[in-house]
Order: sequence, then structure tokens, then C-alpha cells
Amino acid sequence: MQNLETHIKNTIRDVPDFPKPGILFKDITPIFYNQELCSAITDDFIAKLPSKPDAIVGIESRGFLFGFLVANKLGIPFVLVRKAGKLPYKTVSYEYSLEYGTAKIEMHEDALQKNWNVIIHDDLLATGGTAEAVAVLVKKLGANVAGFTFVVGLNFLNGKNKLINHSNNITCLVQY
Ligand code: AMP
Repeated sequence: MQNLETHIKNTIRDVPDFPKPGILFKDITPIFYNQELCSAITDDFIAKLPSKPDAIVGIESRGFLFGFLVANKLGIPFVLVRKAGKLPYKTVSYEYSLEYGTAKIEMHEDALQKNWNVIIHDDLLATGGTAEAVAVLVKKLGANVAGFTFVVGLNFLNGKNKLINHSNNITCLVQY
């Protein structure tokens, strides 16, 4: 049987020029066709955690998938971070800069308790801008960033440099 890293890499589909010319999109959706692979990925994320966190915070929308599976298997809360205007209850928000313009993300204000140690999860680490913004939001609620987990890391974009100020516990199951 191939190792997990090879299996993930062989399953991810490269889609050139999506969503715009020049971007090689790493499409993780075929992973979800394979229950055994999803289970192995969930277990690997858990095995790589230095200690049990108080919650997993997942980033809309692909960060909800393994984020929730990991949280549920650990028996801890899963918290959704969404783009502004999507969450129904009272929220805290954070606006951050993108290459062009800005983006705003939100979390329910009662989602995290003070001093909780949380893991921030997304499918892919590119420039790190999104995960860093989530780290700021987590800290706004008085919780601690215990680490970041991603299925894929695009090392050539140096996203880890942005996250290291918040936690140096950064896991990418596969890297390019
Ligand atoms: P960033 O804030 O630059 O780290 O971008 C991370 C977010 O953008 C993640 O939620 C990814 O899903 C998405 N993303 C950025 N680049 C890619 C790519 N090449 N393939 C797939 N998703 C990407």
C-alpha cells in the first residue's frame, strides 16, 4: 500500500488556470470520494497534534471538512469561521488585506472561551493571509492559537512566515 502522503498527492487533482489564468488550483474534492483515505487523513492530523486542543476552528468552506471530522473524533467543539454576513447570531469580525482589496471574516462571539487552546484548520496554505486573519480573530475572543493544520502547503508562497508569529506548530500533510 502506498504511504499516506503519496496517496494524498495521487488523489489531489491539479486544475490549471482556475479561478484565473496562472493559478494551478489544487482540487481536494476527489479525496472525499474515498472513505478510507478520509479516515486515514483524520487520524494523521490527530496523531500529529502535540496535545489535545480545546476546539478546532475551520475556515470556510473546505476547512469545514477535515476540521469537523478531527474535532468530532477528538470529542471537542468545532467552530466555523465564515465570510462576513453568513453567520446568523452575534459575531466578532476582522477585516484584512488581500492582493486586491480586503476581505472580512466572522465567528460567533460565543464560539470560543477565554484561554482555550485552539487549532486553526484549512484545506490549503498559500500566502497565509487567511489563516493569519483567523488567528487574529481567535485572539480577539481571548483564546490561544495552539497551531495550524492544512492538507496542502504551497511552500513557494512562504505562508508559514506569516503564521509563525502566532504559533510555530504548523502541519501540512503534503507540500509542494
Ligand atoms: P491564502 O490566504 O493565500 O493562504 O489562501 C488560502 C485560501 O485560498 C485557502 O482557503 C485555499 O482554499 C485557497 N487557495 C489559495 N490558493 C489555492 C490553490 N492554488 N489551490 C486551491 N486552493 C487555493
